[in-house]
Amino acid sequence: MPELPEVETVRRGLAPAMEGKRIERAEIRRPDLRFPFPENFVQRITGARVTAMRRRAKYLVGELSTGDALIVHLGMTGRFTISHGKKDRKIGEFVHEAGDDPKHDHMVFDMSGGVRVTFNDARRFGFVELWPLAELDTYPAFAELGPEPISNQFSGAFLKEVFAGKKTPVKSALLDQHVVAGIGNIYACEALFRAGIDPRKHAGALRGPRLEKLAHAVREVIEEAIEAGGSTISDFAHANGELGYFQHRFCVYDKEGDPCPKCGKPIKRLVQSGRSTFWCSHDQT
Ligand SMILES: [Zn+2]
Repeated sequence: MPELPEVETVRRGLAPAMEGKRIERAEIRRPDLRFPFPENFVQRITGARVTAMRRRAKYLVGELSTGDALIVHLGMTGRFTISHGKKDRKIGEFVHEAGDDPKHDHMVFDMSGGVRVTFNDARRFGFVELWPLAELDTYPAFAELGPEPISNQFSGAFLKEVFAGKKTPVKSALLDQHVVAGIGNIYACEALFRAGIDPRKHAGALRGPRLEKLAHAVREVIEEAIEAGGSTISDFAHANGELGYFQHRFCVYDKEGDPCPKCGKPIKRLVQSGRSTFWCSHDQT
């Protein structure tokens, strides 16, 4: 399942192919992904210019000149590929080679300038929606989202406010999308390790300096992962134009029994709210 940094990497890869370009031709090859495509989807986006490619939490948001937002969630296996195509001088059109998995290429955009953007999703947990741009805050998934982890609103002071009086473990509190948007299990584990905080501690019991440290750690792990993803964009573009998935080296996530990178003692695993937490009981107090 792609986490926020992967989605941001996809956004950065899509931006040069889509921003400022018109969707000259759109095609959907089945009526639905996780949900049906919006009504009259192809007609509503054909001819639209993509004025900006943004991201909110784990959603891609293409702002269209028609006043709609094109919202895409990658689900579990959704990925985009970009193909530059070759101009056929005889027919005056761009010709694109078939992708490596044409069976699961469900949505295709031919952008002005000749770039083809293809959405491939083998398991079809991804979905696409159109929503009025001016009312984006009312989109159900966005309505009660907390701040982005790499925004100025997300800080120790903000955590102090939202954690006040909370008896839930800090790990579970961090996964609450009202607290911070788009933080998944992996980055919650990594951030707590970096901040040296026991994941079982009650969120409301943490004091100011530790919350500052935690907010800082969240921002850092996300920014580093985005940076790592960013460095893969050019590789992807050279290889097969695929965007979205890359391997990080994590300190604790999925490392049960491995030596802790700080102290060498084995990383432990526990289950909180049905999710695995990986942590070092020596460094996280
Ligand atoms: Zn350790």
